[in-house]
Amino acid sequence: MRPPFADVKRDALLAACALAPPAADGACRWCAEPLPPRRRTWCSDRCGDAFWANHWWSVARSTAKRRDRYRCRRCGTRAPKRPAQSAHRTRAAYLAAMRAWRAAKRTGRLEVNHIVPCEGKHGELSCAHHLDNLETLCPACHKEHTSALRAPRAVAVA
Ligand SMILES: [Zn+2]
Ligand SMILES: [Zn+2]
Ligand SMILES: [Zn+2]
Repeated sequence: MRPPFADVKRDALLAACALAPPAADGACRWCAEPLPPRRRTWCSDRCGDAFWANHWWSVARSTAKRRDRYRCRRCGTRAPKRPAQSAHRTRAAYLAAMRAWRAAKRTGRLEVNHIVPCEGKHGELSCAHHLDNLETLCPACHKEHTSALRAPRAVAVA
């Protein structure tokens, strides 16, 4: 869980990040607690992980889904559950259930939406991926959200 970024880029982001405390010598860049010996940026892996979970899309996305308990925040739809082999009497029944699950996953896969649009920053280390800007949605609700954004009327409402 350490994306390949130079520390320089990370530090520039931290300086502008609304979630990070002001930089201070010998203080953790995430929680501002004093750094233990031999630590230079984070007081613990926990703080480092929290930083990546709020700034690096692939980590932020999976963290947001876990936080939302794998349900759509708007309509409550759950992602289809992977069938357990032990719940099927025969291998054929299990394989059929797996096929159905894969098909359902293609259409029912949960997506993670940026509440304030991230404007194509998926590949960048960015404050657009703060967890409080993310919500788990089913494809139907996500589509509705995206088309509402495009409709001119919705701009006045928002
Ligand atoms: Zn810390
Ligand atoms: Zn939904
Ligand atoms: Zn940030």
